[in-house]
Parts: sequence; structure tokens; C-alpha cells
Amino acid sequence: MEPGNLRPSLLIDGEWGGASDGGTREVIDPATGRVVVVVDEATPDDARRAVATARRTFDEGAWASTPVSDRTALLSKIADLLQRDKEQLARIETLDTGKTLAESRIDIDDVTSVFRYYAELAAVHVDRLVDVGRPEIISRVVYEPIGVCVMIAPWNYPLLQISWKIAPALAAGCTMVLKPSEVTPLSTIAFAKLAEEAGVPPGVLSLVQGSGAVLGEALTANPEVDFISFTGGLATGRTILAAAAANVTKVAVELGGKNPHIVFADAVADPTDFDNSVDHVLTGVFLHSGQVCSAGTRLIVEESIADRFVEAIAERARGIKMGSGLDDSSETGPLVSHAQRTKIEGFVALGIEEGAELVVGGTRPEDPRLADGSFFLPTIFDKCDRSMKIVQEETFGPILTVERFRTEEEALRLGNDTNYGLAAGVRTSDSARGERLVRGLRHGTVWLNDFGIYTAGAEWGGFKRSGNGRELGPSGLSEYQEAKHIWYNTSPAAAGWFHNR
Ligand code: NAD
Repeated sequence: MEPGNLRPSLLIDGEWGGASDGGTREVIDPATGRVVVVVDEATPDDARRAVATARRTFDEGAWASTPVSDRTALLSKIADLLQRDKEQLARIETLDTGKTLAESRIDIDDVTSVFRYYAELAAVHVDRLVDVGRPEIISRVVYEPIGVCVMIAPWNYPLLQISWKIAPALAAGCTMVLKPSEVTPLSTIAFAKLAEEAGVPPGVLSLVQGSGAVLGEALTANPEVDFISFTGGLATGRTILAAAAANVTKVAVELGGKNPHIVFADAVADPTDFDNSVDHVLTGVFLHSGQVCSAGTRLIVEESIADRFVEAIAERARGIKMGSGLDDSSETGPLVSHAQRTKIEGFVALGIEEGAELVVGGTRPEDPRLADGSFFLPTIFDKCDRSMKIVQEETFGPILTVERFRTEEEALRLGNDTNYGLAAGVRTSDSARGERLVRGLRHGTVWLNDFGIYTAGAEWGGFKRSGNGRELGPSGLSEYQEAKHIWYNTSPAAAGWFHNR
């Protein structure tokens, strides 16, 4: 499959172009290891130019004061075009990330729903009057666009993650510079073309491509930037927070997770419930080969059912059908790159060294048809505990670790015993216990008897080292707004404090 013509790949000041030094990058299909397309890659000067454009467009253009109704119409138009181009966008995403087409199609539907949600929310998110108890005073809070936004995205959900930033930013009236992951640049290029077609004015949305190491400083230590929204790893998040500190630039970071999935024996008493719970734990960790920030990578299971439960998951894991995401019969694709697979292999070696018991997987598949892609088998380690790095660190691959508990208190303690706090799941048939657990778990999203689901109207984000901001929901729009208090005295008089007039 050809992704079509995605060059020139940089959009700056409303003009598509290449890099000022002619730099390019080869994009690789992780299922075959083959180069599928070449894209332009920006220099730091190109990135600075994109930021300057966004600054000028925000300060001098009409965009920031466009009526909300125009902006919501634009968001709805983008949503329509996303649906029109859904199949093409999904194929590009699959080619770039390796995920299955079925997943990519869901991603494009989710992206669409984010644009539709913010189109609706912006229309009702109006200024606020504050009653100060004095009839001559009009005190109101208005929500103004925060200004120039830099948006930096990871490779696991390239278009989805950046849409959580673009849609509220457009709704708020901001200008923006997008930098997708250098590993997965394609869908953002296709999106920027579509945004242009929808009528996003020149200079409002710019796009640069390139590695964070090269472009990071130009984008994040830049005094012309008002807000940086970053999704990615913890180490990068720390670097960006430090780079932004000199200018006191607001930064929202959405970082990694090491997410517990807690299963009580009472949840699996019935054979159907047992199978359903196995199915959710399996899907929660092995969907997209575990390259999901909210993947349920830590199974915390009640001792009395643990052996039976783990064996059932292992049995299902052995049967997962791997292959190119473009093949409709594949249930999971490869890891995003050979480099990512090398990292996962390192974690497997570490798990063995730490004394965990390898139940299934731990190697590349033997199927010769998969030899050139970066495939890795679903892997389960049993007999794990919190002293192990494979239990503490985000592996970002298809590795499930198993810990056991005896009491509810122990389950809760284990579920919170992580530096991260992105997401957690609980499975129990006891609703009072379920409520105690979901309130006790210090994670940004908690699923009770479900896993992995989110909705555009509800906030997403992390506690602790999983981040400091919120995307989606009303908070996801507030991130892109400054609240300004306007105090209007309709009957001006003396201040009356000092008496020496
Ligand atoms: P990463 O941190 O390596 O890279 C993310 C982005 O940051 C890329 O675009 C990269 O080029 C850029 N970058 C790297 N160094 C930079 C620097 N110094 N300055 C500015 N930008 C820089 O992460 P990744 O490997 O692409 O993605 C995986 C990570 O993303 C995982 O930790 C995962 O949990 C996390 N993630 C979190 C969420 C969430 O919602 N919390 C969602 C998806 C992914």
C-alpha cells in the first residue's frame, strides 16, 4: 500500500515546503521493515519560524477573536472530512504504527468524536458573571485563548493523541505548531492537509517533522510559546518541563503508566464471568502489542484463583494471531520499530534475571513470514513482586506481570504501589468493595468491571508521575484558555481609602 504523496511535509505560515537544509527521513513499515515513504524533516530554524508564524498569526490576525460559531463550524467540518477520508487515514496509520486496520479505524472514529465534542462544548462554554453584591459592579470572567501552543505527540496513537490537543486549541482560538513523533509522521501530514481544506486559516496550524533531540529546544525553550502540551515518556516530560521553566511557559504533560488490573475471586465465580475477565485482562495488556499508555500490564489477582486464571490467559495469549496490520485476519501487529523490540527484549532478559517465572512468550515469533517485521510474542511473567523493575517500569510492549494478593487491603496497596497513576482496573461482583477500590486507587482513570474504554466528554490524565494536566472533557478545553476577570464599575467614585484629599 502506498501512503500517497506526503511531500512536502512541513507546513509553515500556510505554505507547504521542505526543510531549509533539505533534510529528510525514511519512514519504515514495522510489519515488513521496508521503507515506505520519505518525509521532510525540519531544522531548529524551521521550527522557530513555525513558532514565529503562530505568534504573529495570534497577535496580529483575526483568528483569536473569530466568533465561536465560526470555530465550532470549522471543527464540525474537520470531523466530516475525517469521516470522508477515514479509510485512507486508517491505512496510513496502520502502515506507520503497525497496528491493525480495525484499531486504526476506531482511532479515526475517536478522533472524529473529539472534534465533534469540542464543537459542542465551545458553543456552550461561555463567560461567567460573578455576583459581588454591588449592583453597580459588573464582574465577569471571560475565557480567552491561551495563545501560541506547541503540541508534541508520541508514536503509539499518532493522530488520536494530537487530536486531543488540536480540537480544544482550535475551539479556544489558539494558534499551534504540531510536532508528531519522528517515528510516525504520516497521519499528521494527511490531517494538516485536511484541516487546510476545512478552512483553518494560514498560520493557525503549522506542522514540523523531526526528532525531539533536534527540535526540542526550539519548540520548548522558546519565549514566543504560551503553552506546551506534551504526550510521551517520563524522561522526555522532565526535559520539557525543565526547558520551559526559564520562560515560565505553562506545560501539560501526559506521561506513561504502569497500570494495575485487579481481579477478585468473586468476579469469576461463574464460568462466563471467568472467561470474560480473562478476555478483558488479555485485551487490556496485549491490544496494540501493549504499546498503550493505559495498558493493564500489572495483573494483581486473588491468590485462590491465580493459577487457574493465569493459565487461562496464557492459553489465550498463545492463540493471538499476529501479522501485518493491513491483513484483516491479524489480531495484533508488530511493535513500532526494531528499536522498540530491542527494548522489550531487554525487559524480558531483566525479568528472567530478577527471578520472575516466564509463562509464555518472551521471544520473537517463529513464523518466517514475520521475520522482517518487528514482531514480538505476547509475554507473561508470573511470581512477580514490587521489588522487580519489570513490575515498576513501563515496558511499553506485550509484557504482563502477575502479582497475587490475599486481602482487599493488600490489593489496594499493591494497586497504588507505583510511581505512576494513569489508569487502573478492578473486577469484582461486590459493588461496595468496587466502590471502595475505585475511590482508593490513585489513578486518573479507574475502570470497574471493564477496561481500556474512554470517552471524549470525560477527562483523561495522570496522577503522580503519569502527568500533570487533563485532556478531553471540559478540563481539556480549559487547558487552552486563560481566565480573565473583568471588573467594571458602572458608577465610578473615589477609592475613599486615604483621607488627605
Ligand atoms: P517519547 O517521550 O520518546 O517521545 C514523545 C515525543 O517527544 C516525540 O514526538 C519525540 O520526538 C518528542 N521528544 C523527544 N525528546 C524531546 C525533547 N527533548 N524535547 C521535545 N520533544 C521531545 O515517547 P514515545 O516513545 O514517542 O511514546 C511513548 C510514551 O508515551 C510512553 O511512555 C507512553 O506511556 C506515553 N503516552 C502517554 C499517553 C497519555 O495519555 N498519558 C498517551 C500515549 C502515550
